[in-house]
Amino acid sequence: MKNLWEATAEPSPESERLTGNRNAEVAVIGAGFTGCAAALRLAQASIDVCVIEAEDIGYGASGRNVGLVNGGLWVEPQKIEAELGQDNAQRLNDMLMRAPDVVFDLIEKHNMSCEVTRAGTLYCAHAQSGFRKLERRAEQLIAAGAPIKLLSSDEAREKIGSDAFHGALFDPRAGTIQPLSYVRGLAKAASKAGAKFYTRSRVNTLTHDGLQWRVATSQGSVSAKSVILATNAYTASLDSATMPSFVPIHYCQFATTPLGKDLAHTILPERQGVWDTATVMSSFRMDNNDRLIVGGIGRLDGPGARAHAAWARRKLKSLFPAVQVQHFEFGWSGRMAITGDRLPKIARIGPGALMVHGYNGRGIGPGTIFGTALADYLLGGDESVLPLPIVDQHRESFRLLKSCFYEVGATVFHLLSARVK
Ligand SMILES: Cc1cc2nc3c(=O)[nH]c(=O)nc-3n(C[C@H](O)[C@H](O)[C@H](O)COP(=O)(O)OP(=O)(O)OC[C@H]3O[C@@H](n4cnc5c(N)ncnc54)[C@H](O)[C@@H]3O)c2cc1C
Repeated sequence: MKNLWEATAEPSPESERLTGNRNAEVAVIGAGFTGCAAALRLAQASIDVCVIEAEDIGYGASGRNVGLVNGGLWVEPQKIEAELGQDNAQRLNDMLMRAPDVVFDLIEKHNMSCEVTRAGTLYCAHAQSGFRKLERRAEQLIAAGAPIKLLSSDEAREKIGSDAFHGALFDPRAGTIQPLSYVRGLAKAASKAGAKFYTRSRVNTLTHDGLQWRVATSQGSVSAKSVILATNAYTASLDSATMPSFVPIHYCQFATTPLGKDLAHTILPERQGVWDTATVMSSFRMDNNDRLIVGGIGRLDGPGARAHAAWARRKLKSLFPAVQVQHFEFGWSGRMAITGDRLPKIARIGPGALMVHGYNGRGIGPGTIFGTALADYLLGGDESVLPLPIVDQHRESFRLLKSCFYEVGATVFHLLSARVK
């Protein structure tokens, strides 16, 4: 099965394979939200920047996600404060609260065509315990000035067209996009401003000779004073000193054929994007062609693929009994970078070289903000423009064991749950 976003995305800007030896002021490795947002900011400041991507623009998580543009992180603001201290937490929360505005403004400014629907998102309570969690979250967010609203189960039913939930947290600032079109839109804007894109060019070595970096692929290299490593959960072929450390968790999505106008109007009539409070969470949304897209934890390139697809069919049936799904037209999965404290990390990998990773499944807003901020830091050298302090390294323990645990747990859960008699 194919990725819906690939089938419906706007085209990428021109790019070529990296061959021969070239120079740039900044080399960005990885063309997702982070790398493309950084390249855009640098190119706009007339910096000679190139982006080197192993596959195609948006190949990683940026071209595979749900497309929910949310403010803040998964972690509750108070927990962020407990981890980072008041000042650092305030800076991070303030910057990420503005994330939907930043993303939607960029889309408008650069005239990107990416299925924008700014009707908010709904974080839904799968059980009474989930509703209590939402109440706690709402209290903290409202205290921080967020214009969110806690909805009763009746109000949630009206917005969703399903009575499966015990209430929801509605964030009107948020919305949905076609994520692959957005990352390609960022790349197109960066390219127009002068950034150079090299695709099908996997970086194998990253070395510093005391003066500058040499970023080498099998067929070419770029010498640059500064480097941004934006390879996140898709990091491949780099040595361990530059490998970000995280727990890889996979998330899969399935899209129906277009539902037809009558049925489509009964589901999310205002077109919010939805996810829920369950431990093995799920999400759903519509696309611009009235396809219903459902997602849950799991990978489609592993032995659990059939269980995940069967679960998705049952899940849709339990949410919207009128939707008849014999088979899905599209199915795909992607990898998220999860960290122990659920916070992203900016790490220094050498002089003038930074790596960012670990958006923990919320990277459209954060990727855009962190990428732009990394560029600002390289432009001015002022660390206070970054959403987080720079760390020297970040290590996670038992990464693969934890990753297996999530995949096996999700497979078992999907085999057992949401059965419709
Ligand atoms: C299934 C799924 C659903 C999600 N849903 C949402 C959502 O609804 N909302 C939200 O905000 N976030 C969501 N996320 C998270 C979000 O998609 C990611 O956090 C974000 O895309 C990360 O962007 P990035 O640019 O940092 O990394 P990526 O988009 O992963 O880009 C990294 C790039 O680096 C390249 N690369 C790797 N190694 C090399 C190398 N050696 N040389 C050259 N290039 C290399 C890769 O090919 C890749 O293209 C989701 C993630 C997944 C997987």
